[in-house]
Amino acid sequence: MYPVIDLHTDSLIAARLFGYDLGKRHLPPLGFMPWMLHTDFPRLKEGGINGVWLGIVTIPYPPDTCFRRAIERIEFAHEVIRRCASQVELALTPEEMLAAMDKGKIAVMLSVEGLHMAEEDLANLEAFYLRGVRCVGMAHFTSNAFASTNFHAKAETGLSALGKAAVRWMNRMGIVIDLAHTHTRCVREVCEITEAPVIISHTGLSGIRPAQRNASDDDIRLVADTGGVVGVIYATTWISEKVFPTLQEVVDHIDYLRDKVGIDHVALGSDWDGLIMLPRGMRDARDLPRLFHLLEERGYSQKEISKIAGGNFLRTWRRVTEVANIGS
Ligand SMILES: [Zn+2]
Repeated sequence: MYPVIDLHTDSLIAARLFGYDLGKRHLPPLGFMPWMLHTDFPRLKEGGINGVWLGIVTIPYPPDTCFRRAIERIEFAHEVIRRCASQVELALTPEEMLAAMDKGKIAVMLSVEGLHMAEEDLANLEAFYLRGVRCVGMAHFTSNAFASTNFHAKAETGLSALGKAAVRWMNRMGIVIDLAHTHTRCVREVCEITEAPVIISHTGLSGIRPAQRNASDDDIRLVADTGGVVGVIYATTWISEKVFPTLQEVVDHIDYLRDKVGIDHVALGSDWDGLIMLPRGMRDARDLPRLFHLLEERGYSQKEISKIAGGNFLRTWRRVTEVANIGS
């Protein structure tokens, strides 16, 4: 069984806010809340996904409560994982991820979406690490003490001294650095100093769909040069200007990435459950095989599809942990 890894879902939001049970199979979100409830563990399994990064999300206000709320949400994630122990297993390393998959379980990894949650203190990053977080995004919808968001054209802070220290620290600890939502200037600055590959976990490409939030050609080239991957998002807003884009448009982004930076740097980052609309042809997580089918139709080999599905990310994560071991 080869890994099929999603680099970013927001599935914990509904679980936390509405008591949505990720362990139970739900009907597809037709009509009712079409922008979330795209996944639960049974439907992820039906879609063939056996590895998933669950995002820890907080709004950035009030700023001095972000860290505390992040810790609460991480503890909540552990509770969900414990409750669904027959279906999922927390993975802290690539090997643990593969071991969970071998048991027929979904490997679950935790990622903190935005360094505003560390407030202004590197020690807070350590607290995340000690609680099993293995991927951290430099920014989310706002700029923070470490880095700037790409939600605004202007890079308010750039990569600060604290941001640089965080990059080096995450390299040492073996945390995957995520540049989704990160301003293009900071993407460059992080790529210049990181010793480990970095990722953009969930994004559209501005070469196809011009948008401040999407990754530019420079961004994807820089990330690929570190040996990292770019996860293609399925959110209609970020893949196309059409009102009702289809899965073909998602494949267009995959084609574009392959042509610009090579097949070895393409990955998948759905953003399922993250207040997004899905393209026609994808009801929810169960329909991922349809995407693979379209790739086949466009001439992708099985080997190439397995790289996109998870092989490329596995290579990236392994390298991140190797760099950490070298540094220790
Ligand atoms: Zn996001």
